[in-house]
Amino acid sequence: MKSYTLTMIKPQAVKNQNIGNILAMINESGFRITAMKMLVLSNEQAKAFYAVHKERPFYGELVEFMTSGPIIAAVLEKENAVLDYRKLMGATNPADAAEGTIRKNYATDIQSNAVHGSDSDENAKNEINFFFPANELYTKCGKLVSEF
Ligand code: ATP
Ligand code: MG
Repeated sequence: MKSYTLTMIKPQAVKNQNIGNILAMINESGFRITAMKMLVLSNEQAKAFYAVHKERPFYGELVEFMTSGPIIAAVLEKENAVLDYRKLMGATNPADAAEGTIRKNYATDIQSNAVHGSDSDENAKNEINFFFPANELYTKCGKLVSEF
């Protein structure tokens, strides 16, 4: 069954012009890109997106980093999208990331770790709605997804 996850290509990977390389890894691993945009997160948006980490010591720096330049937000479609994409991303700390993962190839450190991926189907749905209104979400045949 088709399922969905939300990815962000983080500011450092965009600055380093690794957008194309990362999207190629995503497609080569069997994900379809069904929505995508480039934007700079506002302070409020970054704080809200990472609100789950607000008690963590790195929260302030994380918000600063995530607003430091443009990001790519995209919706990825695949069977088992959330877990399969987390496998493709690799460990949060690139020092621990397996060979062949996006973070192994393109992350520079634990904060600048190239990509975000949703951690559950429920969070994927919330994160997709955070970035994309219904008229920006497409199916395989290019039609809008009216309900997700
Ligand atoms: P993401 O949610 O971005 O996909 P993740 O689920 O692998 O990453 P989380 O634990 O949710 O990791 O942390 C969110 C983000 O906060 C990390 O991707 C990283 O950018 C940053 N982060 C996590 N731990 C640290 C840390 N110890 N020091 C600095 N930044 C951190
Ligand atoms: Mg996370």
